[in-house]
Amino acid sequence: MTNVDAQELAKFSDLAHRWWDPNSEFRPLHEINPLRLEWIDELASLRGKTVIDIGCGGGILAEAMARRALSVTGIDLAAKPLGVARLHAMEAGVTNVDYREIAAEALASEKPASFDVVTCMEMLEHVPDPSSVVRACATLVKPGGWVFFSTLNRNAKAFVFAIVGAEYLLNLLPKGTHEYARFIRPSELARWCRDAGLSLEGTRGMQYNPLTKRYWLSADTSVNYLIACRRLP
Ligand code: SAH
Repeated sequence: MTNVDAQELAKFSDLAHRWWDPNSEFRPLHEINPLRLEWIDELASLRGKTVIDIGCGGGILAEAMARRALSVTGIDLAAKPLGVARLHAMEAGVTNVDYREIAAEALASEKPASFDVVTCMEMLEHVPDPSSVVRACATLVKPGGWVFFSTLNRNAKAFVFAIVGAEYLLNLLPKGTHEYARFIRPSELARWCRDAGLSLEGTRGMQYNPLTKRYWLSADTSVNYLIACRRLP
């Protein structure tokens, strides 16, 4: 049994041809990309590193990391976004990124302890059993390596900002992109990480100002947030 929700994959596949259009449904991913890339690079220093991006979609983060790292593997279970990611890398002349359609859990049994850095962004909230993905990430990373997650917090403010605000008022994301019940509290994610043998190294919140249309990282994890972990050596 694969840990996947077919309806979730269909949502992303249907939009895949617009993935690299910076004014499309994926605009928020394009806009937050430099912020998360810098935070990852600051902590894990990508240069010379072997990286895997879980739930890479059309490759916005994977391709950006490939420009700094030794090599990047991007995996996803939606075929169309992977096709878009491959084409874009080819057109951009980025040759050290490789995309595969495989579940995180399957790759973890194939290649345990193989990556210096594991990233899994905006994906856990679309998966039936996110703790299983966290365990797979902990298996994929080498001892001492870094694992990064980002997702949405679960509380009244997150409901208002991430669903009502982003999907219904500001039209930043298509309606139905996110399901509140699948949001994850930082304490829950931290517990899954610890249970998987990862130590928590840092957290950041992601803020958005609808008037200036700007994003920035802060200490406020009440809506969008990222966490950084390391596998115990
Ligand atoms: N991580 C990328 C894309 C986020 S969109 C970024 O932040 O830029 C969420 C992605 O998760 C989509 O590409 C979707 O196909 C993928 N996804 C959803 N469920 C998945 C699963 N069970 N296994 C792998 N990928 C999944």
